[in-house]
Amino acid sequence: MNRREALQLLAALVAGGSATLALAGPRVLAVRAWPGKTSTRITIESDSELRFFVSSLAYPDRTVVDISDVQADAAFQKALETLKNDTGVLVRARIGQYRPDTARLVLELKSRAETAAFALPPVGQYRHRLVIDLTPTDADDPIAAFLTKLAERETTLERAAAELAIPPPEPVKPVAPPPVAAVVPKPPTIATRPPLVTHVKPFVVVLDPGHGGEDPGAVGPAGTYEKDVVLAIARQTKALLEQDNRVIVFMTRDEDVFIPLGDRVKKARSVNADVFVSIHADAFTRPDAQGSSVFALSERGASSAAAKWIADKENQSDLIGGVRLMGRDPVLAKMILEMSQSITNAESIKLGRGMIGELKPVNKMHKHAVEQAGFAVLRSPDVPSILIETAFISNPEEERKLSSATHQLKLARAIRSGVRKFLATQQVRA
Ligand SMILES: [Zn+2]
Repeated sequence: MNRREALQLLAALVAGGSATLALAGPRVLAVRAWPGKTSTRITIESDSELRFFVSSLAYPDRTVVDISDVQADAAFQKALETLKNDTGVLVRARIGQYRPDTARLVLELKSRAETAAFALPPVGQYRHRLVIDLTPTDADDPIAAFLTKLAERETTLERAAAELAIPPPEPVKPVAPPPVAAVVPKPPTIATRPPLVTHVKPFVVVLDPGHGGEDPGAVGPAGTYEKDVVLAIARQTKALLEQDNRVIVFMTRDEDVFIPLGDRVKKARSVNADVFVSIHADAFTRPDAQGSSVFALSERGASSAAAKWIADKENQSDLIGGVRLMGRDPVLAKMILEMSQSITNAESIKLGRGMIGELKPVNKMHKHAVEQAGFAVLRSPDVPSILIETAFISNPEEERKLSSATHQLKLARAIRSGVRKFLATQQVRA
């Protein structure tokens, strides 16, 4: 018996003996579907972490989720019955016992879909979750759509700039004393025209409303969810910022959906963000904690981010501050990255300071200086990034304010001003 056969035998023995072992395995508590604009999310909640393997089948289109150490029993069946059929791309779901130790969940789909799966640890009212995102392959890609919109805006701005452009001044002729009687004609009154538009590339602002979907964020004493108020504030901020056609806003989420932190950063990078603003509402055990706070990335967060960035093969083809790191000497790559990160951090702090100035008249400040922390969403090495805790949702008074549309608008106006003033200090992107 060779090693391969021995392993197969062992696997068979384990599989055969697992009917009794399975009793100790995870239990599926609930299965839910969250239809989104571009993808449908299926969440499987369980009392302990699930081990799973996801695959796809065609004709008809199905996504298959094999879950180890789980029984396709009555409890799982019951959980599945709460799942709404005909949700988003999902037609219906069914389970079966694929192997003695493996339950198979089959998701029947309306069309072919890209499948991405990840595990979420318990948070708030939720236990362990296995999240499966089904993105129909013919779905609109929001990032591609945004980049198209960006290119169109650029063309519009370029045209506008060309129309306003002042013709280059006549070269200065060698100074010769003019004939005494000569009348120097006045130049045409171009000078009274509106100032030249110098920035033809629109600024890309990424707004990142925290949490979403199964992650409600902080919950106020009256039951207000952080995920809802921050989305409302972000939407208002987007509308205000886009009143200026030189600014174009991308939202990391514009619906009630959970997005992993790393994906938020990736989205910001793939739309070439000039600024990243994450919007949250704080919570504290003491109900009297109050005020807004603004965070930038800490030194320690920055250096660990740099190390991770280098380690992650996916990032190596990325441009960091316009420099491609792939194929470079690792020591040099690390230097470039750290330099970029430290320049970016200084910019983030400048953005944060300005933001505090704008928020102060609207809300009490919790701290008057930019705080620094290792937040994962602030880890882009070349996008100035801040995180705003708009207020303490755990404070009854601030919870009330956060839920009011008027106060949300005030916060949105303050965020708009903070971003605009920062952008005004940025160099023209050629
Ligand atoms: Zn939050």
